Amino acid sequence: MVDVFDLKKYPAEPFKIKTVETVKTITKEHREKAIKEAGYNTFLLKSEDCYIDLLTDSGTNAMSDKQWAGMMIGDEAYAGSRNWLHLEKTVQDIFGFKHVVPTHQGRGAENLLSRIAIKPGQYVPGNMYFTTTRYHQEANGGIFVDIIRDEAHDAGLNVPFKGDICLDKLKKLVDEKGAENIAYVCLAVTVNLAGGQPVSMKNMREVSEYCRPLGIKVMYDCTRFAENAFFIQEQEEGYQDKSIAEIVKEMFSYADGATMSGKKDGIVNIGGFLAMNDDELFGKAKEFVVVFEGMPSYGGMAGRDMEAIAIGLKESLQDSYIEYRVKQIRYLGDRLLEAGIPIIEPVGGHAVFLDAKRFCPHIPQDQFPAQALAAALYVEAGVRSMERGIVSAGRDPKTGENHVPKLETVRLTIPRRVYTYKHMDIVADAVIKLYKHKEDIRGLKFVYEPKQLRFFTARFEHI
Ligand SMILES: *Cc1c(COP(=O)(O)O)cnc(C)c1O
Repeated sequence: MVDVFDLKKYPAEPFKIKTVETVKTITKEHREKAIKEAGYNTFLLKSEDCYIDLLTDSGTNAMSDKQWAGMMIGDEAYAGSRNWLHLEKTVQDIFGFKHVVPTHQGRGAENLLSRIAIKPGQYVPGNMYFTTTRYHQEANGGIFVDIIRDEAHDAGLNVPFKGDICLDKLKKLVDEKGAENIAYVCLAVTVNLAGGQPVSMKNMREVSEYCRPLGIKVMYDCTRFAENAFFIQEQEEGYQDKSIAEIVKEMFSYADGATMSGKKDGIVNIGGFLAMNDDELFGKAKEFVVVFEGMPSYGGMAGRDMEAIAIGLKESLQDSYIEYRVKQIRYLGDRLLEAGIPIIEPVGGHAVFLDAKRFCPHIPQDQFPAQALAAALYVEAGVRSMERGIVSAGRDPKTGENHVPKLETVRLTIPRRVYTYKHMDIVADAVIKLYKHKEDIRGLKFVYEPKQLRFFTARFEHI
C-alpha cells in the first residue's frame, strides 16, 4: 500500500476548506440508466449524477478566499477596468511578455492567434496537438505536423520529459518545406494529450536557439505552465534550488508568445489570454479581439473574472501549492500501478490516463475501447472520466477517415483544490474493481456523429 502519511512523497493539502458543496450518490441501477440516456458519452451526463467528477480540470477549480474577495472588487466599466490593468501587469510580470490580449477562454486565444499568424498552406508543427488548438489551426488553412519525440506515443514507457519536441523532426520539416512555410512552432507545456507530460527547459532552449535565427516564432500553449515548471524543479538538473516563479520566467524567455486557458493553471472557472512580444502581431490581435471576444480591455471576461485570474496566476506559482497538486495526482497513479493497472507512465501533471488498449485488449480500436471504458467506470462507481483516443482524434478533413492515434486513453483529470486523498482512494478502488471484470466491457458504435469536435456531443450504443 502506498503510504499517504509520507508527507514528502504525498504532501497534505496546503489549505483548509472554507466552503463546501454537498455531493450525493445514486444507485448503480440509476447510473446504468443515466449513461444509456447519455449515449455512453460521459460529456452528456448530468453533473448531479456524478459522485466524483474527473471529466476535466478545466474551469472546475476551487477558488481561494482571496480570489472570491477579488470578485467583489470587479470594476465592470466597459473600457479601462482596473482589473484588466491588474491582469495585464500580472501576465507581464510572470511571463515577461510585452503585450496581452484578454479572451473568454483558451480557444478564444487560439482562434485569434491562428487567424493572425497562419497563412493558408503553412505548416504548424507542434508537440502533439490539443483538440481546439488543432481545430483553429486547420480552420485557418494551417497544416498540423506532430513533432513530439517518439517516446510520447508509447504509453508504457517511463522516461522524464516525454513532452519534448524532437528537434530532428522539426529540422527535417523546416528543411523540406522552408522556414517561410512554417507559421510558427506550437509548443505546449505540459502536453495534455500525451498524458500531461512536461517539456524540459533544455528542450525549450534548444527549440528557441534553432528557430530564432530562422525567423520562426515559437508560440507556447501555456495552459499548464505551473505544472510543467514543477517537473523542471523536481527533475531537471540545476533547477532544484530555483523557485517555480523563476523557472516560469526562464521558460517563457524562450517563447515569442503564448495562448492561455485560465481555466487550468489560472485556477479560475473562466478566462484566458493571448500574449506576445511582436508589436505588429499585437496590432492584428487587437483588431480581431473586438470582433470575436470584446474590447481589448476585457475580451469576453467580466472585470471580476479578470481580478480572479490575476490572483489565481500568482497562487499557482506558490511552491507548496504546485508540489501538492502534482503529487496528489501521482498518488492516484501510484495506487493504480501498485495494483497492476495499465496507465500512461510517468504520471503527468493534471491527470492519470488509463491505457484503454491494454485495459480492454478484447475491444478493437474502431469499437472505441476508451469510450466504452469511461462509460463502464461511471457505472461502476459514479466516477466521471473522459475519452482521449480515437473519438477525440476525429477525422481527417480531407479524406474523411478516422485519425487513428496510438494512444487510446481514459483521462481521470483532477480539479485543483477540490478533492482529497480519500477521494483518490475511492477512484483507485473503483478502477481496480472494474479491472477484475474488464471482459464485461463491450465495444460501442456511433448513433450520432457531429462533424466538428465530435467527442463533445457524439452518441453511441453497444455493439
Ligand atoms: C483546455 C486547453 C485548451 C483550451 O482552452 P479552453 O479554455 O478550454 O478553451 C488548450 N490547450 C490545452 C493544453 C488545454 O488543456
